[in-house]
Amino acid sequence: MRVLIAGNWKMHGMSQALDEVRKVAAEADRVACELLLCPPATLLERAVGASAGRLAIGGQDCHWERSGAFTGDISAAMLADAGARAVILGHSERRQYHGESSAQVQAKAKAAQEAGLMTIVCVGESEAERRAGEERTVVGEQLVASLPPQSTPDNCVVAYEPVWAIGSGLTPTPAEIAAMHGFIREEVCRLLGSAARAMRILYGGSVKPANAAEILSLAEVGGALVGGASLKADEFLAIARAVRAKINLEGPIVR
Ligand code: PEP
Repeated sequence: MRVLIAGNWKMHGMSQALDEVRKVAAEADRVACELLLCPPATLLERAVGASAGRLAIGGQDCHWERSGAFTGDISAAMLADAGARAVILGHSERRQYHGESSAQVQAKAKAAQEAGLMTIVCVGESEAERRAGEERTVVGEQLVASLPPQSTPDNCVVAYEPVWAIGSGLTPTPAEIAAMHGFIREEVCRLLGSAARAMRILYGGSVKPANAAEILSLAEVGGALVGGASLKADEFLAIARAVRAKINLEGPIVR
């Protein structure tokens, strides 16, 4: 299992943004990690074409049903049919602005895994929760309730994204990231068994070229989920190049 650098474009990107996918694709063979870009659904199928099979393209959300009367929603099977290989689920913006519960995230993740997609299940505490010293309780509860029991290192990645670090330019200290990733490792192994020692745990929240090498070198950090800095190919690739410093690129992320 290799380090994964995943980009979340959120609600950004018109047709012209496909040039960024092409630029990333042109360099994808030169980085020592897996690359994934998750554009808005309107660009997904064209992004798959622009990727030329050199990087993976994913969705940002899906419904738990395969089809039905759910206006505006997209099923996991539809994402897969459009060429997506992965889907981000339970992002804090979905939890916050769409009231998504962990139970819904789990149902979505189960459907996505059954559709053959790799799921990136996001967890993370708010600023108030961290100030109150509740970050482990919050993240622990989200993991228990959001991860389907059939999750494996092949079909699931956990992304730790402290809500207060997303889009803010703030990041936890390296020690705080390492401590939380260690806790998440213990929890996924407790929930899913020892195979989860190889499950990738991404860090997300204001990852930039300037801080990527330090974050990616931390114990139990198996990659990054990148928002703003994934919109420009140059920045996204600079983060991917920081993976050079990472050991254990070919084997599972286990130390
Ligand atoms: C995100 O939205 O998942 C994210 C990490 O955003 P940013 O990198 O912009 O903080």
